[in-house]
Amino acid sequence: MYNKDNVFAKILCGQIPNKTVYSDDYVLAFYDVAPRARVHVLVIPRGEYVDIFDFTQNAPEDVQVAFWRGVRNTVEKLGVRDNFRTIANTGRGAGQSVMHFHVHIMSDDRFSEEL
Ligand code: AMP
Repeated sequence: MYNKDNVFAKILCGQIPNKTVYSDDYVLAFYDVAPRARVHVLVIPRGEYVDIFDFTQNAPEDVQVAFWRGVRNTVEKLGVRDNFRTIANTGRGAGQSVMHFHVHIMSDDRFSEEL
């Protein structure tokens, strides 16, 4: 089900460079290469999970807790605590283009006008 030949797997093993925001034993957070907000960062688990369903069903609980702690630490590091979105596209129909679970963190002043 998980295909190791995806771009985030290559980032995790150092084959493709990234602009790291936050890193620990469980997660890697880095800037999106094609940002769609003033701040646009992706947080990924170091383990091999296709999407949020795979992750929440198959990742050990400590890994899941550590992932969300990584999201929190990334947001704090970015200084966007009071103004950000988290998005996890799931399935090609919903716009998931990389089949390694990831959460987008996006922050932009425009958000307050849109909502
Ligand atoms: P999604 O469309 O939800 O699967 O999100 C995948 C995201 O990965 C997109 O926003 C892409 O711009 C981003 N992306 C693809 N390749 C890279 C890369 N090498 N480094 C950083 N971000 C990337």
